[in-house]
Amino acid sequence: MRNFCLIIALSFSQITYAGYDNLYSSDQINEKLKIMIKHGELKRDYIEVTDKYFFLYASSADKVRKVHEYKIKLKANGDESKQKARKERKSLSGLKIAIDPGHFGGHLASLEERKIRAVLPEGLPVEFNEGDLNLATGLQLKKMLESKGANVFITKKALGQGAYDLDWKTWRDGEGFLDAVEENISHITDPEQKDSARKLWFEETTENKIFRTLYNPLDLKARSEMLMDFGADLTFVIHYNAGSTRNKEENKNILTKENYSMFFTGGSYLRGELSDEESRTHFVRQLFSNSLEESKDLSVYVIKELIKRVGVNPVSEHNDFPQVNYLRSVCVGHCDGVYARNMQLTRAIPGVLCYTEPLLMDNELMAKELGKTSYVVDGIETSPLTKTLAEVYFAATLSFYKLQN
Ligand SMILES: [Zn+2]
Repeated sequence: MRNFCLIIALSFSQITYAGYDNLYSSDQINEKLKIMIKHGELKRDYIEVTDKYFFLYASSADKVRKVHEYKIKLKANGDESKQKARKERKSLSGLKIAIDPGHFGGHLASLEERKIRAVLPEGLPVEFNEGDLNLATGLQLKKMLESKGANVFITKKALGQGAYDLDWKTWRDGEGFLDAVEENISHITDPEQKDSARKLWFEETTENKIFRTLYNPLDLKARSEMLMDFGADLTFVIHYNAGSTRNKEENKNILTKENYSMFFTGGSYLRGELSDEESRTHFVRQLFSNSLEESKDLSVYVIKELIKRVGVNPVSEHNDFPQVNYLRSVCVGHCDGVYARNMQLTRAIPGVLCYTEPLLMDNELMAKELGKTSYVVDGIETSPLTKTLAEVYFAATLSFYKLQN
């Protein structure tokens, strides 16, 4: 369901995307903008919606000068033609489905700080990491989807592996790290300040911070490029969540009784997030497709299966958990448990997206289940709960396409 659009360049900065013309009315676009935009000034500064046209400007100055970047024809309000309905299918054959198991896991689990180390209520220690769970879940989901005929692409196949060309060690010991530091300090003009910033990276920064701040963004960018190249009809970005209360002295997680799920779609652009051309390209593609609405529908099916099979409920926007304040500050809610959030992957991935955070790994009951290693997936010793989660996503995909389980 990628939009292959006929692009007609009118002049250097004025583009008409004929493939987007007459798809939506001004009422529909104004409704969709409520999900696409979190901070109202973006609409004020970059956008104009008339009865007949949608305009996107590259800056507020351009809007004042009426020099648009995009001009897209809108259909009349009340015109219901050309509304794409989801096709009923007999199998998943012909569908391109992508799976992105989040993080690295394996030998990099401590470095990326996605490890749970805790003591269960009955006194037994438990230790596991999110990257391993994500991969085990993704590999099982891949097989299930392939059994129904889907063409499935997965961004990584082994523990400790990312998507970036250079693995962590090669990057850290070589030019990669040096280049990333220079890039990071490139905005500093004063030579003395630049020197001390460089020194800070070379002599005082922890490996964890170097990994998270300089290396991980390269991996995320590589994942999104792989996913854009594949151009899936539907993508699962697989994660598990954590409430992240830690006993810092003992370097242990404090387990909780809380548990909840949340799922992300694209949208919810914040102030400053339409200032570059690449973001505006993604914004227009998202606005003039039904990918956000479809992504929400898929996530709602996932929520239903998750309640049924694991007993985890979606988190409401009006929750009492301070650790998820961001649901109110940077997200726009579609419904309980499904939130628009503008991240590298939710922005760049085309088609339908389910970005999963199905449960809290540091919940008492979940930690006990996830700490088990009795189930083996492609040589990875993992928890049987990863199979249940793969089944949740598989069943939801079948329901989404109105297929029998
Ligand atoms: Zn994660």
